[in-house]
Amino acid sequence: MKKLAILGATGSIGDSTLSVCRSNPELYRVTLLAASSSVDKMLRLCREFTPLYVSMSSTIAAEKLRSLLKRDNLSCHVLDDEQELLQLLASDQVDSVMAAIVGAAGLKTTLAAVNAGKEIFLANKEALVMSGALFIDAVKKSGAKLWPVDSEHNAIYQALSPQLQNTIGVCDLSGEGVSKILLTGSGGPFLEKPLTEFAAITPEQAVKHPNWSMGKKISVDSATMMNKGLEYIEARWLFNANKEQLQIIIHPQSVIHSMVQYKDGSVIAQMGNPNMRIPIAYVLGGEQRIQSGVDFLDFFAAPDFSFSAPDFDRYPCLKLAIDACFEGQQSTTILNAANEIAVEAFLNQSIKFTQISQLVERVLNQYESATIESVDHLLEIDTQARLSASEIIKRDYLC
Ligand code: NAD
Ligand code: MG
Repeated sequence: MKKLAILGATGSIGDSTLSVCRSNPELYRVTLLAASSSVDKMLRLCREFTPLYVSMSSTIAAEKLRSLLKRDNLSCHVLDDEQELLQLLASDQVDSVMAAIVGAAGLKTTLAAVNAGKEIFLANKEALVMSGALFIDAVKKSGAKLWPVDSEHNAIYQALSPQLQNTIGVCDLSGEGVSKILLTGSGGPFLEKPLTEFAAITPEQAVKHPNWSMGKKISVDSATMMNKGLEYIEARWLFNANKEQLQIIIHPQSVIHSMVQYKDGSVIAQMGNPNMRIPIAYVLGGEQRIQSGVDFLDFFAAPDFSFSAPDFDRYPCLKLAIDACFEGQQSTTILNAANEIAVEAFLNQSIKFTQISQLVERVLNQYESATIESVDHLLEIDTQARLSASEIIKRDYLC
């Protein structure tokens, strides 16, 4: 049995991962669960999965959980210290790590697991978007096995040859006959909405994705299509792709999760119902297919498939991300940081939906593009970009 750590255990990916573990109890012993502050949910998970360790990033939440575990006679060590968590991830208490903390908050833990050469199931795309080359170098150096969990990247991975699958991060796409990666996206809830109505979009409307059930941040990112932009950058790093090898296609039905086009004209697509338990079962199963608990596709009930090119007037965030992708590491770090602040402000109703892209663009324009040499440098840029975004909100946007 492999020892599994789930980072972001109380979130949407955490739920789906634990559901797949429940269906395949012989595969993993869950040794560590980490989250930020949902005490009640974590207590329920402790009762069911009896992890050896739990980490809560909020000290108050950790304290509360300790007393509830004691009350219920459950022996589980509760951590609230980041250094302790990083050490634990590198220890022999962990073989495999589901990296599913949302946003930049997941960077340090994901990198700690990478540096320790663990098996990484990567859902936390922001970590890779921020750290790009540094992340891939760390994977190369430690020999960590990297599995893409994001449904599109998982689909692409499934459509690649074993040679490419075994060289994630440094693979030679054209050498193996790949002409293009076709990254599909639904277009989110506002694909048909008149642009004149965009300024009045509410958080409740934005988090209601037509096909997928996800956390709030990624749901807003899907509505602006920043999510597809982050995924474009993620694909660049995972598959070592250049600009000509990446194309985004709108496919509103979310049945084709992405495709790979080969030089002979063949296109290999991966399909399935839009449910993250499918890619999660794929990575947890490793070399073998396992049960995900998701219904099979019913082709006779399926809607017609349609495809179109993205419209950058509708999705300015997508254009910003594509441009930032090949500008230098600093740009993607700033893009991600400014977007996290913008989405949070939109969800708090401090800014309008249309101001998300404006804010990200304004922060990007404040900095020259540059290469980032170290994780400390990266975190410095990330902090600066967050401060710049917050200042602009306070000064110019507060609604
Ligand atoms: P979510 O908001 O549902 O859950 C986030 C989890 O992260 C929670 O468990 C929360 O407690 C934890 N967390 C937040 N800040 C933390 C911190 N500082 N320290 C420790 N834990 C912290 O988010 P989600 O939808 O599950 O997404 C998680 C990640 O997976 C994101 O990076 C997202 O882009 C990616 N992803 C999600 C989906 C999906 O369908 N939900 C699909 C593809 C990729
Ligand atoms: Mg995705």
